[in-house]
Amino acid sequence: MPYKNIEKERESKRKWKRNHRDQENQYTKNWRAKNQEHIKLYSQDYNLKHVSERRLNDQKWRDNNREKYRELNKIAARKYRLAHPDRRKISIRKWEKKNPDKVLAKFQRYLSKIGKELDLSFGAYQFALRKWSSFIRDEEDNKCQICDKEAVAVHHIIHKVLYPKLSLNINNGICLCEIHHNEVHGKCLGMINK
Ligand SMILES: [Zn+2]
Ligand SMILES: [Zn+2]
Repeated sequence: MPYKNIEKERESKRKWKRNHRDQENQYTKNWRAKNQEHIKLYSQDYNLKHVSERRLNDQKWRDNNREKYRELNKIAARKYRLAHPDRRKISIRKWEKKNPDKVLAKFQRYLSKIGKELDLSFGAYQFALRKWSSFIRDEEDNKCQICDKEAVAVHHIIHKVLYPKLSLNINNGICLCEIHHNEVHGKCLGMINK
């Protein structure tokens, strides 16, 4: 049967290739070294003919299917975020390092917004917050109220964005160490990963 013969031939070719792999690789290398100019021209030609054409087609498709493209992009981005939960944090940190002025401006806007609710300017509110936290640090001996280690932060029990008017209440603060402060903010998993 002819079919069997073809199979046999293929198998023998494969066998030959397996046994002569080094020889073949050397042959290809030699050929490439001799024909560099030809390869360069060929790939340029290929790119001009096929790659740019494909790019144009892709662009056309995107222009014609904006909604669908956006939808697909969203799904891909979500998948990427789920697969690499730390990358986003890292990229945010990188951005913050590169743009300290923008970070400061953001912080100022954030505090100004809350201060407005209390009729305080940014500077006055920042000063009041500092007084508030130092008062609580003194009261609680600067010790984490969960584990008794040295505190690194005075945490707002009721978040200052939610209830700005409670943000300077001395009953609304608690001294916490780094681990427990991260924990109450739901960042405990991030700590373990570090
Ligand atoms: Zn603690
Ligand atoms: Zn906090």
